[in-house]
Amino acid sequence: MAEKLNPFEIAQKQLDQAAEILKLDKATHQILREPMREMTVLIPVRMDNGEVKVFKGFRVQYNDAKGPCKGGIRFHPEETIDTVRALAAWMTWKTALLDLPYGGGKGGVVCNPKEMSLREKEQLARGYIRALGEFIGPEKDIPAPDVYTDPQIMAWMMDEFSKLRGYYSPGVITGKPVPIGGSLGRNDATARGGIYTVREAAKYLKIDLKDAPTAVQGYGNAGSFAAILSKEILGAKIVAVSDSQGGIYNKNGLDPYDVLEFKNKNGTVVGYPNADKITNEELLELDVTLLWPAALENVITKDNAPRIKAKIIAEAANGPTTPEADEILHSKNIFVIPDFLCNAGGVTVSYFEWVQNITGYYWTLEEVHQKLDQKMTKAFWSVVEMYEKKKVNTRIAAYLVAVSRVVEAMKLRGWV
Ligand code: NAD
Repeated sequence: MAEKLNPFEIAQKQLDQAAEILKLDKATHQILREPMREMTVLIPVRMDNGEVKVFKGFRVQYNDAKGPCKGGIRFHPEETIDTVRALAAWMTWKTALLDLPYGGGKGGVVCNPKEMSLREKEQLARGYIRALGEFIGPEKDIPAPDVYTDPQIMAWMMDEFSKLRGYYSPGVITGKPVPIGGSLGRNDATARGGIYTVREAAKYLKIDLKDAPTAVQGYGNAGSFAAILSKEILGAKIVAVSDSQGGIYNKNGLDPYDVLEFKNKNGTVVGYPNADKITNEELLELDVTLLWPAALENVITKDNAPRIKAKIIAEAANGPTTPEADEILHSKNIFVIPDFLCNAGGVTVSYFEWVQNITGYYWTLEEVHQKLDQKMTKAFWSVVEMYEKKKVNTRIAAYLVAVSRVVEAMKLRGWV
């Protein structure tokens, strides 16, 4: 039977497994299975050709038992409310696992930013904030960048929100450029946090990562820094990388900086000299020690999981592995660092940014790196402890830690 690939159904299924082990009561389980609040808005934008185009935007506030909702905004042509719901659920577990004083949220706009001018993107970003401004804020819900949104878009959004409020409100949004309240270390935080978890996983598994063959799927913010820092910090050898147009492979190793420069110039990694062309599917099945899925959801399924050879899978992307694939990887002793642990560096430095905005006191890069390392390392070992205690796969172990913390907050607040 074909595997169900609706990301929200997958997120619910993962939660159900954790709920059963934790023996959650019915009401608690019911609250955690669905978003507590969700909004759909229409955003009219006058395009450069003079016509008005109407875009659909979403914001899902999944659960705020532990603090204001937190989660990025995607600009993607295939965005759906179910993807946003799933991502908002995963943000709830991620902030809880990292012990950040937040709940989970997520947003998205159905659009193709690659076909839009800078002015059109600015109008869309500002329109999104005008439509949702009263429902977000530093104490309510704090967006951030995600797929195809960037610091410039965050800057426009912060500006629009500040205009609505009538005063400078940097704490409404994270991932801003540094001169207007962004944190040092935010740009590579997702990958860097993942690197710390990979370093700890290698210690735990007694794997030597020096010159270890490594493949990275997706060469955007998460993927390109994952490749660069795998080489720089872990000493790994990057043999393959890819983007939406395909992949490149060189068994002797690629220079990830040079590949990034090539991509910035040509819009894709494909065509990079001194490398063979491979498909995204082939990349996942390469004989590597470390594999970083760093693009989109559902790329490791029950169909290709049996052919995956990596020893460690570091999920920089959200939701790259389906539940059936999880079981296959677990039975093959492949160590998966689950998404909401592996890619939590982004939200953790977003949290640092928010703290700096609220206090008006800004930290050095070294402070950010050191605090990030502490948070990631602690979260990693909390998952390993649960993994050994309950003999479940690493994703379920991470769920058990995170869900227990959200449930504890709900109970203390008297919700259930
Ligand atoms: P991005 O827009 O910077 O990059 C996305 C990359 O994926 C691009 O290189 C694109 O070409 C590639 N891609 C798109 N479709 C693809 C496909 N079908 N096959 C292969 N590659 C494809 O986005 P990002 O911020 O790097 O996000 C990537 C993943 O990491 C997402 O799942 C996102 O939710 C997750 N993530 C990002 C952050 C962050 O701080 N940026 C934090 C946590 C999680």
